[in-house]
Amino acid sequence: MDFFYTKDSQFDFGLKSLAAPWYEILPLAREASSMCVVCNSGIATFFEATASRRDFLKYAGSASAFVASSADLNLAQAQSPNGTAEVIFRGGPILTMSEGLPRVDALAIRGERILAIGSVQEVETRRGPDTRIVNLDGRTLLPGLIDPHMHFVFVLFDDWINVGPITTPNNDAVQMKLRDAVHAAKPGDWIRAQQFDPSITQGAHAPTLEELDALAPDSPFFMLESNGHVAYVNTKALEVAGVTRDTPDPPTARFVRGPSGELSGRIEESAAFSPFMRKMPLPSAEEMRTRTRQLFDRAAAVGCTALHDCGIGLFAGTSDLALLKSVMQDKPPVRYRGMLISTAMDGWEKIGIKPGQGDDWFRVDGVKAWSDGSNQAYTGYQRANYLGRDARGTLNYTPDQLTEAIRRAHRVGWQVGVHANGDAAIDTTLAAFEAVLRETPRPDHRHRIEHCSVLHPEQITKMRELGISPSFLIGHVRWWGKAFRDRILGAESARFYDPCASALRGGLRISLHSDWNVTPLEPLRCVEDAVIRTMNEGGDVFFADERIAVEVALRAVTIDAAWQCRMDNIVGSLEPGKYADLALLERDPTAVDPTEIAKIKISETWFAGQRRHAA
Ligand SMILES: [Zn+2]
Ligand SMILES: [Zn+2]
Repeated sequence: MDFFYTKDSQFDFGLKSLAAPWYEILPLAREASSMCVVCNSGIATFFEATASRRDFLKYAGSASAFVASSADLNLAQAQSPNGTAEVIFRGGPILTMSEGLPRVDALAIRGERILAIGSVQEVETRRGPDTRIVNLDGRTLLPGLIDPHMHFVFVLFDDWINVGPITTPNNDAVQMKLRDAVHAAKPGDWIRAQQFDPSITQGAHAPTLEELDALAPDSPFFMLESNGHVAYVNTKALEVAGVTRDTPDPPTARFVRGPSGELSGRIEESAAFSPFMRKMPLPSAEEMRTRTRQLFDRAAAVGCTALHDCGIGLFAGTSDLALLKSVMQDKPPVRYRGMLISTAMDGWEKIGIKPGQGDDWFRVDGVKAWSDGSNQAYTGYQRANYLGRDARGTLNYTPDQLTEAIRRAHRVGWQVGVHANGDAAIDTTLAAFEAVLRETPRPDHRHRIEHCSVLHPEQITKMRELGISPSFLIGHVRWWGKAFRDRILGAESARFYDPCASALRGGLRISLHSDWNVTPLEPLRCVEDAVIRTMNEGGDVFFADERIAVEVALRAVTIDAAWQCRMDNIVGSLEPGKYADLALLERDPTAVDPTEIAKIKISETWFAGQRRHAA
């Protein structure tokens, strides 16, 4: 394939200048790391600690090259090709996600684009002597699927033991994984685990120092909670890191102590993780690049042809652009879009990046801010107190600061996405958006609220009025639904959780996302979750009124997700002129039992007219 970056690339990977050295970038990223919970696991601290950070010097220069050529916001448009078809698909249902013609019998492509859709007879008129016929043989053809909110940066943890509740639902299984890792390790090797979540892992509790020492007497041990703000270490790790009972707590972080001042093994907030990170092996820039490419290949295997990153800059500030660009140069089978972290705005402005910079393959359109934390970590900001607690979470900003962050991005034309989980965080976010939009109205801004978890009817009305749309982390329903309803929020609040049906009734376009690696990158499972809303724990339905039809849920991972990611002009539906990004499913999701949707196998994934994945 001879597509991207062959000519006129807006991501020239030259090393002409060193616009933003790491020692300037890191403080920005560090500031960001104190802001968020779910999305941002204090990642910058990990980067700061890596011995390989100097690798990034070689990437840093190209952040400025990113902006070297001028961006044209409307560069990307559907372009209808002419001539005969190279490939014609027929022989199975074709769901186009286009309003006018939702189901067709045949689709023709030429080059990177869709040439024609319609009846077999109509499309056959585009057949030439060299046209190849792909017999769907009953398989279903859909537009390539889109995950509108994920984070590449989590590849950092690829080689850590995953003890998360999705892969490891009970404590016995957690302990077994940890014991196996200790057995396999040589003395002195670090044992590292991620995604520990005592809020929903059956039988799990926060481990004591004694328990961790018994588990791993000879190896330093470090286990991160899924919320990213709490970790557990053993005595060996404390020794290696040089942390003793006399070590003062870092600012804004804690080495949690017992009643007589002794270390407990629990550490809180990213600054307390640094002494440990500095001593453990972490991936080089090259390794990060390899892992990111592998992530993109895995995305193609689940039918994705486009990903949208909601936190470019979390890993290495402006150098993230260069790292991603170098991955995109290898022609992965996905398009990449993203939002830049608002806390690094000085850095972005310094390199002169503009809204819409990039091309159809890799482009940045938005700026991302985090208004609150995570509901399961009790840091989402709620109107009412958490069940059994005299606390309702916190905002990461004052309302004025949040308004200013939105204003700064909005005024220069960025789309703005704000993470807001609690209903009070959504109140604050909407007030901030409203203030900014009243000062500076802008048509078609497509501002988003990310997760938008506890969403009340009057907030939906306000969103409609302001033109703001929600992207739901729908896996919350499956995995945390029961905990939210019965243990964390209570039914009074939980009934407003991920209210897909109400949002649609209220006139909003919605999308569904994984927030990878908070939940697995599985767009079809997101569809199933929105359609059936079955809770993993106990198997009941989580507020049945908010279930939506499968056809609508499919829009939320195709055309409506494309619209939210500002790429509906080139992908998201099967229409002549758009890119031939396609997912071939073994079965028709609109025809199977809804509990089977997530199990549908992806038979093939086509990207820009080429088959890039086959089961
Ligand atoms: Zn988030
Ligand atoms: Zn996120």
